[in-house]
Amino acid sequence: MTIRDNLQITGANIQAFAKKYHRSTADIQLLAVSKKHSAQSIQTAFEAGQTSFGENYVQELLEKEEQLKALEIDWHFIGPLQSNKTKKIAQVVSWVHTVDRLKIAKRLSEQRPDNLPPLSICIQVNISAEESKSGVLPKDTVQLAKQILELPRLKLRGLMAIPAPETDFEKQRATFKKVAVLKEKINEELASILENPLDTLSMGMSGDMEAAIAEGATIVRIGTAIFGTR
Ligand SMILES: *Cc1c(COP(=O)(O)O)cnc(C)c1O
Repeated sequence: MTIRDNLQITGANIQAFAKKYHRSTADIQLLAVSKKHSAQSIQTAFEAGQTSFGENYVQELLEKEEQLKALEIDWHFIGPLQSNKTKKIAQVVSWVHTVDRLKIAKRLSEQRPDNLPPLSICIQVNISAEESKSGVLPKDTVQLAKQILELPRLKLRGLMAIPAPETDFEKQRATFKKVAVLKEKINEELASILENPLDTLSMGMSGDMEAAIAEGATIVRIGTAIFGTR
């Protein structure tokens, strides 16, 4: 299978799941996760029509961005972000999915160049409440959202989650549903200060995309099903 075939199949799956769960395909964006795959593979996917790519490691993202400057790629950062690495990220991506503390958000807002639109942000929620995972705990999420809404160069879009690995479909769904409910809670509790309700649920990977779409994912982050194993 080529990257082009895989993209075609993934797109068809998104369409089929959208239909199955009474969603509009237009509300589900495919983010191609290219970590540990070459710039050449990204170029191949781009030539097949995929324009949004997600990367997890700052150095790797910057190298690929440099190599692929000629292409109009929409870069998303989806990995753990340390405060000493925020500046470059604020300059090259349109989205950061993994904000889980105010310090990082403040730096991204301060460092977002004036000539670019506000940086789209998702708060990463530790939805399975695992000690080892990054992400803010559900109980602290509304407060962090409130603080991020005060930062001028960020646009808070919604929530992102990486649930603990789970193969049972109903259990996958139950976890994603918690993320969706938490987003609605933020929309209700912060209605008076939100310009627009949060519109983004970044959830669903190669192994749990159907469950995520069933529960309202608006960005699915797909690596293996497009580029193969890493
Ligand atoms: C690697 C990764 C993905 C893609 O996972 P696959 O199982 O390869 O589809 C999605 N999101 C994040 C945050 C990742 O690190």
